[in-house]
Amino acid sequence: MPYPHLFAPLDLGFCTLPNRVLMGSMHTGLEDRAADFPKLAAYFAERARGGTGLMVTGGVAPNMLGWLKPFAGKLSWRWEIHKHRIVTKAVHDAGGRICLQLLHAGRYAAHPFAVAPSKIKSPISPITPRALSARAVERVIDDFAHAARLAREAGYDGVEIMGSEGYLINEFLAPRTNQRNDRWGGDAQRRMRFAVEIVRRTRERCGPDFIIIYRLSMLELVEDGSSWDETVAQAKAVEAAGATLLNTGIGWHEARVPTIATSVPRAAFADVTARMKPHVQLPIVASNRINVPEVAEAVLAAGGADMVSMARPLLADPDWCNKARDGRAQVINTCIACNQACLDHVFVGKKASCLVNPRACAETELNYVATKMPRRIAVVGAGPAGMACATIAAQRGHRVSLFDAHDAIGGQFNLAKTIPGKEEFAETLRYYQHRLVEENVALHLGRKVGADDLADFDAIVLATGVTPRAVDFPGHDHTRVIGYLDVLERRVVPGPRVAIIGAGGIGFDVAEFLVHEGVSPTLDAPRWRAQWGVDFAQRHRGGLTAPVVEPPTRQIWLLQRSPGRPGAKLARTTGWIHRAALKARDVKAIGGVEYLGIDDAGLHIRVDGSEQVLAVDHVVICAGQEPQRELAQPLRDAGREVHLIGGADVAAELDAKRAIDQGCRLAARL
Ligand code: FAD
Ligand code: NAP
Ligand code: SF4
Repeated sequence: MPYPHLFAPLDLGFCTLPNRVLMGSMHTGLEDRAADFPKLAAYFAERARGGTGLMVTGGVAPNMLGWLKPFAGKLSWRWEIHKHRIVTKAVHDAGGRICLQLLHAGRYAAHPFAVAPSKIKSPISPITPRALSARAVERVIDDFAHAARLAREAGYDGVEIMGSEGYLINEFLAPRTNQRNDRWGGDAQRRMRFAVEIVRRTRERCGPDFIIIYRLSMLELVEDGSSWDETVAQAKAVEAAGATLLNTGIGWHEARVPTIATSVPRAAFADVTARMKPHVQLPIVASNRINVPEVAEAVLAAGGADMVSMARPLLADPDWCNKARDGRAQVINTCIACNQACLDHVFVGKKASCLVNPRACAETELNYVATKMPRRIAVVGAGPAGMACATIAAQRGHRVSLFDAHDAIGGQFNLAKTIPGKEEFAETLRYYQHRLVEENVALHLGRKVGADDLADFDAIVLATGVTPRAVDFPGHDHTRVIGYLDVLERRVVPGPRVAIIGAGGIGFDVAEFLVHEGVSPTLDAPRWRAQWGVDFAQRHRGGLTAPVVEPPTRQIWLLQRSPGRPGAKLARTTGWIHRAALKARDVKAIGGVEYLGIDDAGLHIRVDGSEQVLAVDHVVICAGQEPQRELAQPLRDAGREVHLIGGADVAAELDAKRAIDQGCRLAARL
């Protein structure tokens, strides 16, 4: 057994879990409409078949006021249990176990009926909540217990009571949001009563043989959050009230410290769970940025937790557990913590999926069925689009050859993985390296392919990617002007002052690359914590301290022509992290720039009508890209079957999510 701690059964007294993996709660967008429940059932059943020990659904409100948004998932009436039975039956038929997460949104509710302990608006919500009356507090407690009872009747093996992340229960616990002076607020004991009563009544209503997970906010990362002593007292009280498992919650949604993004070190917060463990008897679950079996095993082996929670990693690979158990960890499709297809989707009301696995939440729609007509297929370009297409086409039974001009697979992911904070991207390359072998794809590296090389194939997939866009203002051919490829492929080491033209995703990444030297903070957890002002000792409420500012390696100007704040178009859940990280490194981000020219004095620009010269050593061009598809026309002219995917198809707004999605979907129908 390669991971003995991970695959040790866990006896909960009335049931035994087969391993130590808890699939953490994650909203998929399939929880809200009854019509989506068959899809939700297929999604969970696949993960149950994949060997996951215990799963938790996305958050479901115990009453209407607790909705995350209008008409979000709710369980308060008996008739609402029927759709849930589709999910629980599918999971049980697949040999799994599942708990329903009960989440009252509190002041994070995106509807006008939001309630909270006190009338205090969250900095990330436009809605001021109404303070609950003492009688209404009693009713909410009852609603939780009632919903848990209904969950039991719907066939769930238990519930998770969401006490963290700044939702209603958490709001009762922290002085930041609870300024009541009745039996539900005032001192720590009274602030905690709401949480403890919910657990106590849930146990009372659901009986002894029902899993109650309590998600405890162990490190709040907001000012005036709970103190460590209060959190320990809460854990003990919740245990005494009848919880079965204690899960870890890190950070409120309004916290300005990243907690799950790819730049967060792996298992960055496991030590917080370990610090709590000696205070309780019940099994305790570590969470956040645990994505590969080695890390999960190390967390458990160190004795700081009894289970590990992983949500996105199981979106990325439903067979994560079986692969790890069977010694096939090298073919786990690892979550790279990009948030691009999961959280970023959910935040804008779209169904979640996964950048590296477009089948996630599309299990009933996107299937890779064995072909009845195997064909010879050439895939040109081994970037994300080409690798995805080649492996799936081969998995379906086609004879696939994959060509790349470079001597390594991966295309632009080879550049992405060099950016400090994007080290995870290397995992996708490792995955495909092994999958290509597993599926017998004939791999031809170092082969720049021309139309004449493709005569022997029935179908040709062009996944040849992009070329950087050239700029044409005066001085664009000056020796100080270099491209992002020159920098990231380390052909040129830029001087101490650098202007970056173009503040898209690549401009931001190049800036990140240029302000760091030495080991990336993502690979050095204590340094990362210091930079973000995280204090595990929790000397102040919420565990925040003054961030340590490291001087930048270079002075950087990051420029764009469009007016407004550079980086405004970066992704919803991670853009703020990139902006904050560069601001901390004193990067000057300027919008509304007119480029006048480059000469020996530097880069001449005009901003708000006034001209200035940036006396820089280098100007790095990150001005977007153009499709690279010169093979398409000659092949089409020769009457060949040609398909374009990824950047070769459309370069504008290209990202790996679209590249892999197009690759998989084309392969599914070839
Ligand atoms: P590419 O990755 O460009 O691959 C094309 C491949 O085709 C190359 O390997 C090339 O050598 C090969 N090729 C071309 N012509 C031929 C030929 N004639 N014969 C043989 N081989 C040929 N995306 C995200 O979603 N999230 C991110 O965080 C992210 N970060 C990035 C950071 C950086 C620094 C960079 C550069 C890109 C980043 N991207 C990110 C973008 C992402 O990498 C691209 O969208 C994705 O790689 C496009 O995939 P593709 O397969 O279409 O093309
Ligand atoms: P991009 O996002 O399209 O940004 C291009 C930048 O160049 C913009 O700031 C644009 O702003 C500027 N520009 C465009 N044409 C120009 C010209 N002719 N002269 C000067 N400036 C010009 O492209 P990218 O940064 O190269 O990224 C490529 C793709 O990779 C993106 O679509 C992105 O999704 C993906 N990517 C994603 C991430 C991520 O973290 N998710 C990271 C890296 C890359 P102005 O026009 O305002 O000047
Ligand atoms: Fe992980 Fe990105 Fe997939 Fe989300 S989209 S599950 S973060 S790889």
